[in-house]
Amino acid sequence: MTSAATSPAVPLADLDTEALRTARDGFRAAYAELQAAGLKLDLTRGKPSSDQLDLSNDLLHLPDGEYRDAAGTDLRNYGGALGLPELRAIFADALRVPPAQLLALGNASLTIMHDTIVQALLHGVPGGNRPWGSGPISFIAPVPGYDRHFSIAERYGIRLIPVPLTDEGPDVEAVAALLATDDSIKGMWCVPVYSNPSGAVYSEEVVRALVSLPAAADFRLFWDNAYAVHHLSDDRPQPIDVLTLAAEAGNPDRPLVFASTSKVTFPGAGVAFVGGSPANVDWIVRNMAVQSIGPDKLNQLRHMRLLRDQAGLAAHMERHRAILEPKFAAVSEALTRRLAPYGAGVWTDPKGGYFVSLDVLDGSAKRAVQLAAEAGIAVTPAGATFPYGDDPRDANIRIAPTFPPLDELRTALDGLCTAILLAEAETLLAAR
Ligand code: PMP
Repeated sequence: MTSAATSPAVPLADLDTEALRTARDGFRAAYAELQAAGLKLDLTRGKPSSDQLDLSNDLLHLPDGEYRDAAGTDLRNYGGALGLPELRAIFADALRVPPAQLLALGNASLTIMHDTIVQALLHGVPGGNRPWGSGPISFIAPVPGYDRHFSIAERYGIRLIPVPLTDEGPDVEAVAALLATDDSIKGMWCVPVYSNPSGAVYSEEVVRALVSLPAAADFRLFWDNAYAVHHLSDDRPQPIDVLTLAAEAGNPDRPLVFASTSKVTFPGAGVAFVGGSPANVDWIVRNMAVQSIGPDKLNQLRHMRLLRDQAGLAAHMERHRAILEPKFAAVSEALTRRLAPYGAGVWTDPKGGYFVSLDVLDGSAKRAVQLAAEAGIAVTPAGATFPYGDDPRDANIRIAPTFPPLDELRTALDGLCTAILLAEAETLLAAR
């Protein structure tokens, strides 16, 4: 590394133009070294690493010739549309949804979210008096958020309205103002625990507000609890029973709860869940009846045998944590060592989930990600955490540290920091 990248530093913004040019030249030299290293590293998607996948390898031989559930039902056959009762019971506790109101379905919660939206567009939801699709539709999207949520809405012409996501959840005043003035709003994306990408956890106060605010009867919270059990520390949020809070607020049908084992066992070969009020669950079951004669219950049995019970699930997640904690520590260490001395970057320190959200100097994120890519370090495209890929400040970068081995992760982070410092110096110089 060149001296400019390691020497004691002052915030780049405080440097006079001459000193800023010198710093920029130092970053350029460091960047040239980085490019010469010919790296090929990937920080893009939140995928478990292969040693995390190994934790669930028993799924490859389970269920060991068994094919009946506790009630003696032959799971090889059609039927059982609601999913395996024993598996639903394990996740009911983690998700705070009564087992009778929680369905265990196919391999991807995104598919269920997608289908729920399509069914709502075509047929409407309980409490609504017409299909969503009979008029213009909007969803509220807390930002930064999850690009695949946005893609579903964009695919069906649903307008996405960003609201800021704070450390406590979405900005409630902004949500209230939108709901009060725009009756095209039929939905809102929510990742209430360890949000993708900031790691924010919604406070009970925010959840109470979201389930109580005046809104149309066919307004739905898409409560994507993808990371409910994915803790990285002992400092754990108290699970929030959104369905009971919504019922107490007189809006029992507002939340639709989604989750999956994608980051518990095998992404793509796991089990997805959906839960809600009795009216919503009836609606989903009726919709599903024409789509499928029942889910893959043998995969659900495999999962049941692997995880066993709530304690088994918790122990399994601890083994994930043991692998992931050092990787998140490496992110914090790299950003603190490389960016903080220059006053560059503000980042989150999540207590769970799969991502770190990093804000760089306004106007620098796209350039930093481009520079990183040109040095062989793939990062999620800047802007992806905003609807339509449009980050108005061009500041947010999502870091996904789970997949690469620790040494590769450290190399990739160091390279990304070099790219960020160069991009920031360029942005500042362009404004002088
Ligand atoms: N929701 C969130 C918030 C996610 O981050 C992800 C995976 N990145 C998913 C859903 C995908 O879930 P699934 O594999 O169950 O479709």
